[in-house]
Amino acid sequence: MNSTEMLKKVLINRQVKPRDFLKFVAPKQKAELLKVAAAMRGKRVVHVSATAIGGGVAEILNGLIPYLRSLGIESDWYTINPRVGKRFFTITNKLHNSLQGSPVKLTEREWNEYEKVNKRIAGNLEMIDCDILAINDPQPLGAGVFAHLNKHKIYISHIDTSSAFKPVWRKVLPLINNYHRAVFSNRAFINGAILKNKVRVFTPAIDPLVVKQTVVSRTAARRYLKRYGGVPKNRPLIAQVSRFDIWKNPLGVIEAFRLVQNTFPKALLVLAGFHETKDNPAAIGVYSDIKALSEKAPDIFLFFDPRGKKISEFTAMIQNGADVIVQNSIKEGFGLVVTEAMWKSQPVIGGPADGLRVQIKNGKNGFIVKTPQELAEKIVHLLEHPAKKKIMGKAARETVIRKFLLPRLVADHIKLYLSCIR
Ligand code: UDP
Repeated sequence: MNSTEMLKKVLINRQVKPRDFLKFVAPKQKAELLKVAAAMRGKRVVHVSATAIGGGVAEILNGLIPYLRSLGIESDWYTINPRVGKRFFTITNKLHNSLQGSPVKLTEREWNEYEKVNKRIAGNLEMIDCDILAINDPQPLGAGVFAHLNKHKIYISHIDTSSAFKPVWRKVLPLINNYHRAVFSNRAFINGAILKNKVRVFTPAIDPLVVKQTVVSRTAARRYLKRYGGVPKNRPLIAQVSRFDIWKNPLGVIEAFRLVQNTFPKALLVLAGFHETKDNPAAIGVYSDIKALSEKAPDIFLFFDPRGKKISEFTAMIQNGADVIVQNSIKEGFGLVVTEAMWKSQPVIGGPADGLRVQIKNGKNGFIVKTPQELAEKIVHLLEHPAKKKIMGKAARETVIRKFLLPRLVADHIKLYLSCIR
């Protein structure tokens, strides 16, 4: 593969109009957003990420880019060509895990391969015209450093690096410090030695205008899940929507579910983690383990293979149709799935991951639990108290409207770009 093929431009045909999203924004924020957008008009921003499908980063960029364009800011998005090979993504998967705290070392050969691919990506970046270059997550992190560029460079970390594995962090930190700005999704994820004046904290947000955020009645959603997923309509449904990943702890969910069945023997469990992307080969292993465990269980539904499914629609229907949504993560950058469920007025029961606490206020708009036993208790509690669930669900939706909708994040981004340019 020659160097011009290392990146692929993501074609985004979607067009949004400012009036479509400004209706969700309070008057003061609206005025501010329009003001900063005007100052940035005519400038060009390029984002780079590992992949355009699956995962939270893709979700954010799929919204951010059209919103920026609608406000008159030229923006494009490039992803790493999957043809760089499985080996590279296996290495970056290890890198990702070690940055989240797994004690996995990368061998000398693996670092060399990482650098080799990133240098070739850098060659591509040098040919892309822009004022601001934003690199998302560690896969293309090196490329922004290796490229000889006369541009403002921003690194955006979407994961929890607060307890990154030291030997790996020592290699990654100088790369991050090479950027003009570093963005994290949570203050707690900033790992020590990053120069303070470079750092920004942007809480993620969801796009209220996309199919995934459709709000429908439980009945309609359950009809859909029956028809397209074979999930019986009239039994209590517990669900976790997440990539099959050790950090999302799906095994703990199954353990809790079995306890719930002592009280609600007819309860059903959905674990959905549609496998759409090649940058997460580990998911196949985790999924296989879970499948082996639940193969003969007629009350557990696993959704992994995306073929024949409209993923956004299907995911939205799980979030609308479940009686209890859980997110049992041990580590979580933020958990867009939680925001998505809260938008649909679901109080979410979250696991011990710090990232979840930004959204879930224990006892108010959801619950935070530490063990499968506690998870089971709270599931039973919500199933037994629908009126309380409704009140908490309302609080959950209000939290999202106040803090986690995309126009807020768009404003954060534009202010960041301006801070570089000025
Ligand atoms: N997602 C989905 N279907 C699935 C699993 C995940 O649509 O079966 C989406 C989900 O709705 C969310 C994103 O993938 O928008 C996952 O983002 P999150 O921040 O929750 O986790 P990440 O995968 O980035 O760790």
